[in-house]
Amino acid sequence: MLLPKISRQEDILRLAEEMKKWDLGEIRIMEVCGTHAMAIAKSGIKQILPENIHLISGPGCPVCVTPSGMMDEILRLSERDDVTITTYGDMIRVPGSVPGDNLQRRKALGAQVKIVYSAMDAVDFARENPGRKVVFLGCGFETTAPGTAAAVLEAAEQGIGNFYCLSMLKRVEPALRRLSSSEDFRVDGFLCPGHVATIIGEEGFHFLTDELGIPAVISGFEAGDIMTAVYLLVQQIAQAKPRLQNEYTRAVRPEGNPVAVRMMEKVFEPCPDIWRGLGLIPESGLKLREEYAAHDAIREFGIAPSDKEDVPGCRCGDVICGRIESKQCPLFGKACTPEHPVGPCMVSSEGSCAAAYKYM
Ligand code: SF4
Repeated sequence: MLLPKISRQEDILRLAEEMKKWDLGEIRIMEVCGTHAMAIAKSGIKQILPENIHLISGPGCPVCVTPSGMMDEILRLSERDDVTITTYGDMIRVPGSVPGDNLQRRKALGAQVKIVYSAMDAVDFARENPGRKVVFLGCGFETTAPGTAAAVLEAAEQGIGNFYCLSMLKRVEPALRRLSSSEDFRVDGFLCPGHVATIIGEEGFHFLTDELGIPAVISGFEAGDIMTAVYLLVQQIAQAKPRLQNEYTRAVRPEGNPVAVRMMEKVFEPCPDIWRGLGLIPESGLKLREEYAAHDAIREFGIAPSDKEDVPGCRCGDVICGRIESKQCPLFGKACTPEHPVGPCMVSSEGSCAAAYKYM
């Protein structure tokens, strides 16, 4: 059953009341999307849900899952006189393994770091500055991979040889499989990311229900979307019938966006990658194909991130895996605030610690 889209406050409250009638014990629902984390915190949904229904964050913020070892490599790269690093704004304050060391600090010390709003902006900058090696930090999931691929294709076709992509792009499915197979995994349903699903489609999430037997609903980002999706998940749990449902039908098609997928697959191929909190996961990253090696920053600059732990005291890895909530980190709101972030979950605009702090 698919409910009509709801948006009125009384309808949202009605769904919350209906869920109270089901006696299901403790239920843990995990979102795996930074936009969901922020929307849930902003809307106050957690506060109106029945006490037995817990919404927890998973590995859905691309900045947060980028490991310290990769940030150390990026900081090392920023020391080169011939390199300009171009990046989305969120990355600039993410620390490496040394507390307080980040691109913002390096920029203040003279490193060439430029914030861009798209990968194509970085290509334009490279075209206008042929004397610089311009490295774009490609961070994100399947949602941003097609746009990054388009930039690499543009640079290749236009012969912009000083443009390099440092791919930190990640695939959602291998990470959810790894997370679901961990010993301490205890999640009763997944709130699936609407953004990623617009690209990979409903088909990209069937493995959750069909293979792993975990209820799953693809959700949009308004309060009504999220509450409807939670309701559908609780209904599935009550019926003990896991199946993939799509609440976000106005944007997500069963097959996703084949044009975007083709562009992504033309430029990138799966590779092993390191995730903060989850470690090395086969096939979970996207690297540039051999045809585009001339634009691959990893090959050009010999980048080889280690699997370093979080900075001392930071529990981002546990937050990302849903083992603790942000407020359970001893540093939350004390040594770690948005003004003085210790870990990436407090830096990113999609980080669950930042969301919890902003709307607590
Ligand atoms: Fe890391 Fe700060 Fe979140 Fe603790 S509160 S997990 S230190 S980002």
